[in-house]
Amino acid sequence: MSRQDTWKSETIAIALGRGEHLAGAPLNVPIIPASNFRLGGKRRYTRDDGQPGWEALEEIAGALEGGHAVSFASGMAAVTAVFESSAWEAVVLPAHCYAGVRALARERQSNGRCKAVYVDTSDASAVFEACSRGALLWLESPSNPLLEVADLPQLIAGAHARGAKVAVDNTFATPLIQKPLSMGADYVVHSATKYLSGHSDVMLGILVVGDEQLLHQARLHRVHTGSIPGALEAYLAVRGIRTLPLRFAKAQANAAILAQRLRKHAAVERTRYPEFGAIISFDVRAGAQAADDACAAIALIVHATSLGGLETSMERRGNLPGEEHLPPGLIRLSVGCEDVDDLWNDLQQALDVAAERRG
Ligand SMILES: *Cc1c(COP(=O)(O)O)cnc(C)c1O
Repeated sequence: MSRQDTWKSETIAIALGRGEHLAGAPLNVPIIPASNFRLGGKRRYTRDDGQPGWEALEEIAGALEGGHAVSFASGMAAVTAVFESSAWEAVVLPAHCYAGVRALARERQSNGRCKAVYVDTSDASAVFEACSRGALLWLESPSNPLLEVADLPQLIAGAHARGAKVAVDNTFATPLIQKPLSMGADYVVHSATKYLSGHSDVMLGILVVGDEQLLHQARLHRVHTGSIPGALEAYLAVRGIRTLPLRFAKAQANAAILAQRLRKHAAVERTRYPEFGAIISFDVRAGAQAADDACAAIALIVHATSLGGLETSMERRGNLPGEEHLPPGLIRLSVGCEDVDDLWNDLQQALDVAAERRG
């Protein structure tokens, strides 16, 4: 066993993806804006053969998840790579999951490419009933934005027993919390736009698989669709992923404290927090308008749609197309790494504004 096989996530994130250890070489793989390489070497053309920046990122992300990683232009590009990796008879997906994935499944169904079957992932027998040979079971746990937690080992084993393949969107949990490949999943997908990059300045996706055959297929999909990450994006994602364990530990500690305080605030009807991770969704008792007022009243916390950044952000999700089914007052809070009391003071004054609207 090489030393690397025993390394923990904190070490992997810092030590891997540094290129060849040659005397005089830079510690970090530089940004290489090349489409073309001199013939006779390992690479000829970037879309076909990749480039060192992608490889650095894939080495780290693959080691963190315990598989082989392929980087894509965005999280949705990685999702699409899984949807298109086979002529799935059906895609079985949570009725509550990332809206972009639900929209993709709906579009593919309306194009006649595959059937989309929506399930409640807390009901294992309903999930298994929908799974058959040739189906893809899509899981997202915790889910965006309701933070529903699925029993991954049970669902994966049951789906496999019925001949289905399983993909897990691990964007919210990150490999620091759970490694779906080790639970038997066939595909793991990340919107690396979120925690893995972590600074709200990159769009990038990662697909991780456990075997060489699926790796080959995923790379070929990237060659054919051209959904490649940019050189700068790959560099920034490596730069971000190095501090993922540090950022995530701080964000989780902050989230645990904020969830506790939110539960006690009179303006909050319900706090959804699975006791891990750094996303909290909470329902403002007085509804949509009061939640919008709270979002308008925050001063430190950023009013923005994405998540997983160093900075804490929040938004009322019901404002988004495709999310009308959510409780109208639901705010998704992506907890970052600021001082927790500064965050709470800001949140509290914004919620007090919301509480004034209580009728
Ligand atoms: C953001 C997100 C995606 C899509 O990723 P992009 O990088 O925006 O394409 C997929 N799944 C989840 C859970 C997300 O939060």
